Amino acid sequence: MIAGIDIGGTSTKIGLVRDDRVIDTVRIATAGHDADGTAPGSAFADAITMAVRGLQEKHGLVRAAGIGAPNGNQHTGTIDRAPNLPWKSDVPLASMLTERLGVPCTLGNDANAAALGEWRYGAGRGCNDLLVVTLGTGLGSGIITGGKLLLGPYGNAGELGHTTLVMDGRLCTCGRKGCLETYVSIRGMRQTYLDLADSSEPLKQEGVLPIAEQARLGEDAAIQTFRDTARWLSIGLANAVAFTVPKRIVLFGGIARNGDLLMSPLMQFFEKDLFYIYHGKVELMLSALPEDDAGILGAAALTALAD
Ligand SMILES: [Zn+2]
Repeated sequence: MIAGIDIGGTSTKIGLVRDDRVIDTVRIATAGHDADGTAPGSAFADAITMAVRGLQEKHGLVRAAGIGAPNGNQHTGTIDRAPNLPWKSDVPLASMLTERLGVPCTLGNDANAAALGEWRYGAGRGCNDLLVVTLGTGLGSGIITGGKLLLGPYGNAGELGHTTLVMDGRLCTCGRKGCLETYVSIRGMRQTYLDLADSSEPLKQEGVLPIAEQARLGEDAAIQTFRDTARWLSIGLANAVAFTVPKRIVLFGGIARNGDLLMSPLMQFFEKDLFYIYHGKVELMLSALPEDDAGILGAAALTALAD
């Protein structure tokens, strides 16, 4: 049995994985643990430890733990100043948890965790040349090539979200302009919709749900938002195929779960946008992991790197 720890901006999910399934989970707040005089992240590590021990009392001991986090650095086991997490310095969470739990703890970035999760437990099973793209607030990706996760020197290789799609395009959180993520992400889709609807009214609900609802009601701007997003994503994926040549691409995350609204235009565009030598050779699939468990399974899959 393995513990999977999925750290998000608001909450952290901690689960136990046995026989490729999540058998129990608890959720704690990510922020608000640090007290004066303690090292950054140490009180958070205490809270995770309590949660894991509580789960172990019910289900038995774990032999390892995997931690998926934004800006997680697999080489150093640290979370490196993630913009949406509370700590402004690097937090050595892998060593903090290894010490507290007494089992090996492996930390990696959330996009790589998602890629490993799909490879080990989901739609990427059995495919050793795999690209996994997570479509959420931003756009993350992980690359498995020749049966190995591509890490690069800083543990964060394969960040398709910050490849330039449009010269002098939308301003990205990374400070550059026109990154794929500024178009293909929840934030990007909301911007596209507001531009197309020519509206200055902010969308009332979070995420892309209000746009999906309007699209199902037949509203032109909303339907066009999904088509434009599909085209931008298609170009981004076709570029990725040209330089990493995956046999399969798995799409993961909230936007991909809007069924045909995104997938039918994407399927149409993708084959046309591909370099012709790859026509018919790249499978495009949706994540097969249960939404609530995917982050935990991905984090748990990180432990395989330490085996
Ligand atoms: Zn960027």
